[in-house]
Amino acid sequence: ARERVLSIQLVPFDLSRKLLLSRDITQLERVQTVHRDFVANVSHELRTPLTVVGGFIETLSDMDHVDDATLRQFLPMMLEQSRRMQRLVEDLLALSRLENEPRQTELERVDMAALMNTLRVEAEGLSQGRHRVEVLDAAPDALWGNPFELHSAFGNLVSNAVRYTPEGGRITLAWRAGPDGGRFTVTDTGIGIPREHIPRLTERFYRVDRGRSRASGGTGLGLAIVKHVLARHRARLDVESKPDQGSSFSVSFSREQLCTAAKTETDPA
Ligand code: ADP
Repeated sequence: ARERVLSIQLVPFDLSRKLLLSRDITQLERVQTVHRDFVANVSHELRTPLTVVGGFIETLSDMDHVDDATLRQFLPMMLEQSRRMQRLVEDLLALSRLENEPRQTELERVDMAALMNTLRVEAEGLSQGRHRVEVLDAAPDALWGNPFELHSAFGNLVSNAVRYTPEGGRITLAWRAGPDGGRFTVTDTGIGIPREHIPRLTERFYRVDRGRSRASGGTGLGLAIVKHVLARHRARLDVESKPDQGSSFSVSFSREQLCTAAKTETDPA
């Protein structure tokens, strides 16, 4: 009778240990695969511009005499490739800083009206008159957060809206705050995103159309950065999109993240 009791107790215990162990191994394998893919992606992203720049330098070095016209043709292309590498390295550094310090340490008051104005100016700068840029309800509320990180996250959403919207389209930035919290939204009338891609957009280097992303100066890391910044601010990202009609990226903050002090300043009632 004693043996039976023991075996009854041991079997489930052993099984659960085995299950735990195999779950840990599966998890480890997944982490290793993600890491391998990441290194392969970074290498691939850097190899292309390096090959192009190397090729140009080789061609120029082989020429006996390099005239002005040739230089004027080659230098902008080399500059473009070096800028591409610089953007990639900057995004990689931003991402690695965010990943190495997953907890938000110091919170500051982020003035949303000022940030919305900065984002509008940046959107107009990126668009260069090719789109109509509108700002809706930029309420003078403020948020508790890291101003640099929030600027970078919202800026990435704005830059995507401009880059994925053909000429003549409309980009709308909105900030609304109320008793339930705050919501920042960027809406565009651009190319849109097929439904099946939406859940994967914040993965590093995930792109719906690789060629289009590269041609518009994308690194494939923007939404991964957005995801990390929002996690640190306990904010939520919602994406709505229809191919050929446009997309809307919304970031929601809870009521606790709004600076109520700012509200009493502007609305004493
Ligand atoms: P990228 O540098 O390629 O733009 P992101 O991480 O910012 O990288 O975005 C990932 C992908 O999501 C993009 O390559 C693009 O396919 C898609 N995407 C992001 N924003 C938009 C948008 N506003 N409209 C259409 N597609 C978008």
